[in-house]
Amino acid sequence: MNERTSHHLPAVAGDHRGRLTTPLPKALGEKTAKALAKLGLNTVEDLLRHYPRRYGNRGKLTDLAHLGVGEHVTVIARVAHVSVHAMRARRGAILTATITDGSDELTLTFFGKHAAAFTLHERQLRPGATGMFTGTVSTFKGTRQLTHPQYETFDDLSDEFAAMQKVDWPIPIYPASASIPSWKVAGAVKTVLSAQRDGDVPEPLPVAYREEHRLVGALEALQLIHEPHETADYRRARLRLRHEEAFVLQTVLAQRRAAALAEPATARASRPGGILEAFDARLPFTLTDGQREVGEVLAAEIARPVPMQRLLQGEVGSGKTVVAVRAMLQVVDAGGQAALLAPTEVLAHQHLRTLRDLLGPLAEAGMLGGADVATRLTLLTGSLSAPARRKALAEAASGEAGIVVGTHALLSENVQLADLGLVVIDEQHRFGVEQRDALRAKAVTTPHLLVMTATPIPRTVAMTSFGDLETSTLAELPVGRAGVETVVVPAGKPAWVRRVWERVREEVDAGGRAYVVCPRITPGEAPSAGVDDGTGDDVPDMADLLELSDAGQPRPPLAAVEEVAAQLRAEPALAGVAVGEMHGQLSTEAKDAAMSDFASGRVPVLVSTTVIEVGVDVPAATVMVILDADRFGLSQLHQLRGRIGRGAKPGMCLAVTSAEPDTPTMKRVQAFAGTTDGFALADLDLEMRKEGDVLGATQSGSGTSLRLLRVTKDAAIIDAARTAARAVVDHDPELLTYPDLAEVIARTVDEETAEYLERT
Ligand code: ADP
Ligand code: MG
Repeated sequence: MNERTSHHLPAVAGDHRGRLTTPLPKALGEKTAKALAKLGLNTVEDLLRHYPRRYGNRGKLTDLAHLGVGEHVTVIARVAHVSVHAMRARRGAILTATITDGSDELTLTFFGKHAAAFTLHERQLRPGATGMFTGTVSTFKGTRQLTHPQYETFDDLSDEFAAMQKVDWPIPIYPASASIPSWKVAGAVKTVLSAQRDGDVPEPLPVAYREEHRLVGALEALQLIHEPHETADYRRARLRLRHEEAFVLQTVLAQRRAAALAEPATARASRPGGILEAFDARLPFTLTDGQREVGEVLAAEIARPVPMQRLLQGEVGSGKTVVAVRAMLQVVDAGGQAALLAPTEVLAHQHLRTLRDLLGPLAEAGMLGGADVATRLTLLTGSLSAPARRKALAEAASGEAGIVVGTHALLSENVQLADLGLVVIDEQHRFGVEQRDALRAKAVTTPHLLVMTATPIPRTVAMTSFGDLETSTLAELPVGRAGVETVVVPAGKPAWVRRVWERVREEVDAGGRAYVVCPRITPGEAPSAGVDDGTGDDVPDMADLLELSDAGQPRPPLAAVEEVAAQLRAEPALAGVAVGEMHGQLSTEAKDAAMSDFASGRVPVLVSTTVIEVGVDVPAATVMVILDADRFGLSQLHQLRGRIGRGAKPGMCLAVTSAEPDTPTMKRVQAFAGTTDGFALADLDLEMRKEGDVLGATQSGSGTSLRLLRVTKDAAIIDAARTAARAVVDHDPELLTYPDLAEVIARTVDEETAEYLERT
């Protein structure tokens, strides 16, 4: 069959290496296994899935000009010259070699007790010899160097590696570390790979799918990616492996979706003359076309005995709340209850206020002045007083409360709902699948589910992270929005910064409000992640996911709420203007007071962490100053900016940064200032992050099985895989006729469960 199998070792009887689950110590011996374990590789499969990051070439030297200090690198270069001398200050000798790519150079430094210690190095590092060198880049007197690098010259190749290099095949370069150089990883891979036979590696892709997309088989893909003979080899391998990753993930999502759809739900049809009609009649504005269209889709799905599974995404300020409220009211009309779940207390309170305003007498059932068709709104958060909590629990359990608004507290076991018909989750990016399931478990029949997200999610991410949900999008903003203008302000220019506060003053004098956003609460502590729900769950901060500061650049301490508030109270331009503070460590009462003082205008300047990032709605807010703007992710900046320009007056966002001109950091902030298109910014954000982080942040676990799939670039693959996976699951939900696919999924899900358990 395949000519490449000819140089593989024959299978040995009782040989364990063919099994993917075999622990590496058994397959390779303790010493090599220990070094690989430092890379997180513990089984044969781990090692086989540790794909080369890139490929080198004997004849094509690595460009040395762009190696960053502190980076662990593997380069292919030529030895230029070597010299040995005694050290001046202390006993011992030093060997320095210069390697080159033809134009730029890198120094290799070795220390020894005496010159004789270098015999081997001198023999191998002959001027003119090429080889691979690996180590961590440092600088010494302005010259970049590798100290005691590991290396292998192509003339003195070790046995395993030699076979691959006899001819000019691409050289796999692995994401290696100081514990084991790339070529030793290659050797280990070769050992376990050559023991694999057809059938050892499961083939999760259906034959028809492979044929349709002309994909190589599972084992061949591993051979081609680890031991390519030419560029086309690893390209074919990557294509196949990307399809495989997409297909496996989409199958899991399709199964999850099928399982949810298989549960019976209660049909909640709309009712003429009910609370929804009364609500529509009192809305102070007309719905946008988008709101109406999405509303019709939701209304129809809720009216079916199959659980709705829908993601509603929309630009900040596109009016998702009203859409959700209308769906909730349809359920109330049908005699059921709806739960609205927010990620933070601030947001839950905000939702309660918004819903009260929108509903008016319609939310005052049983009260004087309440309408006939009215229902009750109940708040359930972790910080309620004991009596308030008892009352809320009773209203939820009796069914008196048609709408329950809450935080994670709603998930706790002693919360009961009489007849939960719809769960609305706001800002999904802070909720995991587990929480979604916990809420669903609170109902007799599976409730309908509406997930809303204000972080515009590129379509492919929606398909990967939320593939079990159907997606609706609110693209347009309600008319009459004046929009937001964004200006980048260099922190190093005092005149500009002074102008920022004068601008805030002008806005306040004209009746506006200003947010001042800081990355920290107090000077010196860790940046705030913007979480305040009191559950102790740490939500990953975009800024932490991104490696934001330019490496090696010392930077001034980050702006902190308490400090900045104090400064502003002493700022001449703001004399006589009240300055408030808002952050996650305040008590619920203090947060509420700060928000309502700000909304009413009593305290028109609010210094805050990112707790105001999601959903907060104060239409009079017209200015936002973001300090250390480069410290935030693009999507997060966009979210923050969405808090202003919500009324008829245009908003102004002032992004203050100490980033230097022309650095990637500055370019990011400029990109933010340059567009108000949330989808464009989300795409940019995505490109700058590792794919695993994107998915890991939205849904625990699923990042781990994606190694090659790129959510931005592989849209076509994800699309194809999704369609095919759904078809497979439709006709064989248990995957009985797809044993290999089932095996791969079981292993992936197991791993992810194990990882999840480890983290909790
Ligand atoms: P988001 O989609 O970001 O959650 P909201 O639901 O908070 O947006 O809506 C933002 C603001 O727009 C709110 O003040 C809301 O009352 C208002 N709004 C919603 N729909 C419309 C509409 N059709 N016309 C005018 N204003 C609207
Ligand atoms: Mg919202």
